[in-house]
Amino acid sequence: MKTAVVTGGGSGIGKAVVDRLRADGYRVAALDLRPGDAEDTYAADVTDPLQIATALADIREKMGPATILVNAAGLDGFKRFINIDFDEWRKVIDVNLHGIYHCVQAVLPGMLDAGWGRIVNISSSSAHSGQPFMAHYVAAKSAVNGLTKALALELGPNGVTVNAVPPGFIDTPMLRTAETKRRLGGTVEEHIQRTPVRRVGRPEDIAAMCAFLISEEAGYITGQVIGVNGGRNT
Ligand code: NAP
Repeated sequence: MKTAVVTGGGSGIGKAVVDRLRADGYRVAALDLRPGDAEDTYAADVTDPLQIATALADIREKMGPATILVNAAGLDGFKRFINIDFDEWRKVIDVNLHGIYHCVQAVLPGMLDAGWGRIVNISSSSAHSGQPFMAHYVAAKSAVNGLTKALALELGPNGVTVNAVPPGFIDTPMLRTAETKRRLGGTVEEHIQRTPVRRVGRPEDIAAMCAFLISEEAGYITGQVIGVNGGRNT
């Protein structure tokens, strides 16, 4: 049985990925800032390499080396570029981009030993289209797509695939908070009318794509950025 690690696994998309992979028969460890009391959930900040290393060592002891990593932890931000101070800029880049650096560094040795691995990075549809007032977030998520392509080329010969899934408009606490703070340019209901498939995305929609990308039959798919967005970005 393969072992998977899912960051941001305590909420929204990450939680749906955890549930889906468990249902599919994987051993799954979830990492999150506030992990809750679910089984095999670890409190770890993805920006802190020591916390990641400690959690991964514990996971390895309990479940064996992780050969699957889904990076779903994320932090958004919403401010005019001119008002984003460097601390805020750095924080958003730190969580969304450097967090993936730390987690891949921590799991990669086990994947290289196994000669097999799957990495899925959750980026954002905003990296496709750009998004005003989210320059730091869009910059970080665009970098995640680039990192995905570079790692795919480098790790393909080692049996490790690396893909990115940029979600668009998925019903999670992040989206609902943005709605409450009037950052969406309309309500979720109003956006649904502008979405080709006429519904909001579900965390399970992203989990289904992750489940496919980590499966054996997706072994010829790597370095891809595969949108799951109801047709909002084509
Ligand atoms: P969510 O419900 O807020 O889940 C994100 C999780 O990541 C939260 O549990 C959050 O913890 C955790 N997290 C934040 N900073 C962390 C850190 N430093 N270390 C560890 N965990 C951390 O949001 P979501 O919508 O499911 O987002 C999942 C991913 O999808 C994110 O990367 C997000 O950028 C991306 N995304 C979502 C949408 C969408 O429509 N929902 C669209 C595009 C991209 P706290 O709640 O404690 O902060």
